[in-house]
Amino acid sequence: MLFSSNTVELLSCTMTGSNDTSSVTGTSKSKCVCDPENEEPTGSQLLEDHEARVLVDEWRLHKFQSPIELSHDNAIDHDHFDPLVFHGHWDKIGEATFENTGKTAVIRFQRNEAPYLIGGPLHEDIYLFEQLHFHWSDDDNGGCEHIFEGKAYSMEAHAVHYNKKYKSFEEAADKHDGLAVVGFFLEATDNDDNPCFKKLTAAVQNIIKVNTKTTIASDCLTWIKEEAQCKGYYTYQGSLTTEPYLESVTWILFKTPIHVSRQQVAHFRELKSTPCEKVKITNNVRPIQSPPPNKKINILYARSHRKSDD
Ligand SMILES: [Zn+2]
Repeated sequence: MLFSSNTVELLSCTMTGSNDTSSVTGTSKSKCVCDPENEEPTGSQLLEDHEARVLVDEWRLHKFQSPIELSHDNAIDHDHFDPLVFHGHWDKIGEATFENTGKTAVIRFQRNEAPYLIGGPLHEDIYLFEQLHFHWSDDDNGGCEHIFEGKAYSMEAHAVHYNKKYKSFEEAADKHDGLAVVGFFLEATDNDDNPCFKKLTAAVQNIIKVNTKTTIASDCLTWIKEEAQCKGYYTYQGSLTTEPYLESVTWILFKTPIHVSRQQVAHFRELKSTPCEKVKITNNVRPIQSPPPNKKINILYARSHRKSDD
């Protein structure tokens, strides 16, 4: 694995499952919820922006274990981030690989220059794309890690980025500003396949065996493009949801699920987790993590941008 266990100091967290699916919202898709705006900042606005940045500096130091349950009522509206911009994530340059690691399916790009992420809660830093992987379970109503408004979705995709000021993902992984993970919910429906997701569901059938890898077209992330260009996202300071659970992640979570078909999700459940091929990856979801007693997670809702050039 990438880390040695003695470098890791974990918070003691209570692990609790979340079965509350009572208040279901945000499930209807599939229009982007962007609200257009193009405001130039005024003088007082700039002062406010500075104060907001100081607060965000402070906010970045307080980390919690992930995943968590998100609720809009518990989030603070934030209007002072720069636009969050994805660069190169859906460009048709080079190739990509899709690998069954035995724990998940991972997409990596084979390019001279990695796609990168800037803006939003990331300050002035540039975060380079490392990989995108998926979480799922044997239940279309419970394959995501984060819970939004009491609702669990069928899958969750994590686009993992690391801060360019560190030499590598491994070096960045235990730094407080080391990682940025963008999360997308996927919801299985009885409708037709998501055409943008078809490249992956075709390729996933080539990596049934553990530790196998296949090549796919590099524009294999177009299925997140529409959602990734929306302004309404939630962000908080959390951790990796797999070992060693390092608290180094700025989470960015888009709330509107991307619709795929039930069959498209089912393909992922066929992946084998062991060389003997008797065991499938049927659940790779970490349960919801409760914050330590007397500590409240500061969740920001990026409602609009400080300025917009998109
Ligand atoms: Zn993940």
